[in-house]
Amino acid sequence: MARVIIALGSNLGDRRSHLSQARQYLESLSTTPLTLSSVYETEPVGEVSTHMFYNAVCMFETDLEAMTLLEKIKTYEQEYGRDPSAPRWANRTIDLDIIDYDRQNIARQRLVVPHPEYEKRLFVLYPLQEVYPDWVDVRSGRHISALIEQAPKIGVFKTRVNW
Ligand code: ATP
Ligand code: CA
Ligand code: CA
Repeated sequence: MARVIIALGSNLGDRRSHLSQARQYLESLSTTPLTLSSVYETEPVGEVSTHMFYNAVCMFETDLEAMTLLEKIKTYEQEYGRDPSAPRWANRTIDLDIIDYDRQNIARQRLVVPHPEYEKRLFVLYPLQEVYPDWVDVRSGRHISALIEQAPKIGVFKTRVNW
């Protein structure tokens, strides 16, 4: 059994519904109830995407191996309508990233855990702190509160949206 943390993002169409449907899909991979963060509204980063994001994080336990979990969430993203040839950071209905897999440090070609960019992303760090207030990065040994202080400042707003 592995405890995993997934970050979700959506900035196209009915963003709440996209998060909610992905949550239901993740429940099907989980052996426990999901621990859910609040939904955050985030300004798009970079020049490719143009719409405000909804972002959230969830934590659960699964029997799936890390690579199997990655394959399942990539398949879900593609089946859910994201164009696989679109540039990274383009507008997307749903993006699922593995932030953590059982506190492991994984550095494979197709899977890096903790997620390689998460420390720079307040839209991941704020919801991560909600579901895991004692989070410490396995690579740097830094506590979540230090990661939040050091992350580039961007507009991230906590909402009351249910998902
Ligand atoms: P970013 O990874 O910077 O958030 P993105 O989510 O837009 O960008 P994707 O197109 O969704 O990028 O994923 C690109 C590739 O990243 C995937 O094909 C996957 O193999 C790889 N990858 C590496 N580590 C992870 C991880 N922890 N979670 C999800 N994908 C990962
Ligand atoms: Ca991503
Ligand atoms: Ca992704």
